Amino acid sequence: MKRTGILFFPAFDWSLGSSHPEREERLLYTQEQLFEEGILDLSQIKQYSPRVASLHEALRAQAIFPNPEAPADSLDAHLIAAGSAILLGEARVRGEIANGFVLARPPGHHSGATVWGNRGFCTLNNEAILVNHLRARFGIKKIAIVDTDVHHGDGTQDIFYHDPHVLFISLHQDGHTLYPGSGFIDENGGPNAWDQTLNIPLPPGTGDEGYHYVLENWVLPRIQAFAPELIINSAGQDNHFTDPLASMKLTANGYGRITELLQPDLAVLEGGYSIEGALPYVNLAILLALAGEDYHHVREPKQLDRPGLTLAALKPYLEDLNKRHQSLKPRFTIRNKPFFPKGNWIYNPHSVYYDTEWFQETRYEYIRECSHCGGTVYLEGQCNQTSVLVRIPFQACPDCEQAGYDLWDYLQLHNADLTSCLLQNLLHDKLYLWHKKEGLREF
Ligand SMILES: [Zn+2]
Ligand SMILES: [Zn+2]
Repeated sequence: MKRTGILFFPAFDWSLGSSHPEREERLLYTQEQLFEEGILDLSQIKQYSPRVASLHEALRAQAIFPNPEAPADSLDAHLIAAGSAILLGEARVRGEIANGFVLARPPGHHSGATVWGNRGFCTLNNEAILVNHLRARFGIKKIAIVDTDVHHGDGTQDIFYHDPHVLFISLHQDGHTLYPGSGFIDENGGPNAWDQTLNIPLPPGTGDEGYHYVLENWVLPRIQAFAPELIINSAGQDNHFTDPLASMKLTANGYGRITELLQPDLAVLEGGYSIEGALPYVNLAILLALAGEDYHHVREPKQLDRPGLTLAALKPYLEDLNKRHQSLKPRFTIRNKPFFPKGNWIYNPHSVYYDTEWFQETRYEYIRECSHCGGTVYLEGQCNQTSVLVRIPFQACPDCEQAGYDLWDYLQLHNADLTSCLLQNLLHDKLYLWHKKEGLREF
């Protein structure tokens, strides 16, 4: 029998405020609904209990600055959400389940390669921590992440932008009209991972029909061409027509169909803030679709007031978007710092805004151009203090691994202006964190 795993973690003691849209009721109503419908009694459903991710597992995907053991906002709930994703991911890879749904909070997809605090309700990136864990522990080489939250999965994109072995696809409401204001068609991957990021911004008002059309005609063929070993769905339910934060027109049934089309190995809950009107029904439809059960009877209490954009209205927009995507050409700037090891280092500056606490990180990001591997990354983040991440990628070539260690040695000798630096050697799963006050530690 095909089994479907499910794991709840409502994080009772974590919130950004009692009236904040990201609160525990997001999961409690779902839990009740699934219970009422008798879903948990289905013989193919297997329930799991959460576990805590270790700092090693978190730091493998993200540089937590400044000190991961004493953050301003406690990491505890975030580590459990990430650990829960890992737990169900392991069950999938071991073959205990055919697929699974991680119903945990807090969400994670706005949390990027560096972590200075909470942004977009996210502090740790659950999917990224999961993906790097499965690669490090189970030798999985190729994974696709499809983000169907209404907001652009900018944090996940940030973490895998230079990674040729992770295909990241985000469908979302156009960043001109919604937080975080990114996810445009020209964000197409770094120099060594060109075309491994695909952003499909959709106009407000897109409904089931438009969404399914894009999946069938654009997303699925792209995934098929990549041939991943696993598909992870960042399942945000805020495209629902009752969601208070966005303007899309998806129904619970429409979400069931998305799951049926995508056939994810694992769905990981992201956003969704229509706590009573949508989440219990959307989550139910997703779970039924994962379990191979009929989801068509699932109806949210409120009726769709106005239907979504018709396909006829949407098609010219999509054709134009596709044309612009086809005509993209990689254009990158080489800029070597004097202390950089040999090779061409490509410069990719940008900034990351932390909307929860209102501050900005200025990012100076460099990647070693390489045709043999994903390339070593040097990433300097500044916000009041300066910290550096050096990342040696999975399946690194000898030159890139050496370049990573040369950078690291240099930083150990020239750290007067730094608060912390992290070496992520993903090739050998070694993590070293130097902190001005704590000194050098291995995680
Ligand atoms: Zn969202
Ligand atoms: Zn290389």
